[in-house]
Order: sequence, then C-alpha cells, then structure tokens
Amino acid sequence: MDTESKHRRQMNPQELDQIKKDMLERKKILWNQILKDLECEASVKHQDIIANLREDNERGLEDLRESNAIKFVEIKVGELEQVEDALNRVESGDYGRCRDCSRWIRPARLRIVPNATRCIKCQEQLERLGNI
Ligand SMILES: [Zn+2]
Repeated sequence: MDTESKHRRQMNPQELDQIKKDMLERKKILWNQILKDLECEASVKHQDIIANLREDNERGLEDLRESNAIKFVEIKVGELEQVEDALNRVESGDYGRCRDCSRWIRPARLRIVPNATRCIKCQEQLERLGNI
C-alpha cells in the first residue's frame, strides 16, 4: 500500500460537520461578493459598456466579455456552484469520494480544497492530459 492509499478514508461525522460549516460560510462570502460586484458593475464601472451595448450590440458584447469584472463574477459564480455541489454530496453521503476512481480523497486534501471532486492522483492525471 502506498502512502496515498494509507491516508484515504471517509471523513468522520465531526470532520464532515466542520467542513460543512466552512462551506456554508464560504457560500455566504461568495454571494456577498457577487452581489457587491454586480452592483458595482451596474452602477459605476461599466456605464460605457452598457452604453456600447445599447448602441452596437456586437461590439458591446465583446467589451462585456473582455471586462475583468464580469470574469471575476463568473469565477465566483463557478466556485459557488462547486460549493453547492459539494454540500449536496455531504447530504447524500458521497462527499469525499473521487469521481474518477471512486476511492476516498484524503481528508487533509479536502480540508484545503473542500470542493475537490477528485483525489490528488486523478487530479494530477487530468492536468497532465490537459497539458498535452
Ligand atoms: Zn481518484
């Protein structure tokens, strides 16, 4: 048995409880940030983009895609969806299982990346394939 396998196990109820609390807290923070960003976008930063959108839809859309603030929201929305997904897995009892190899993900990894869906080995393999 290699060291990775030795550390694989399901989280105990206390650990799950803690990670759930952490994720709910993260969810709250993300929501607040998204709302703040959107308010900011609408009211100040992107008046010019909004004006362009009205004038010339195609060009305005390009500006919108290129604007970093919108991307920021996208990243946060993406993370929020991952957190939601992880919370659902806690409820269904699947939390902590690797989606590729179905083995348990090390609790130490989950504490750092609570919304991880893959064990470190499968994640590394995926990233290697992605780089080809
Ligand atoms: Zn795996």
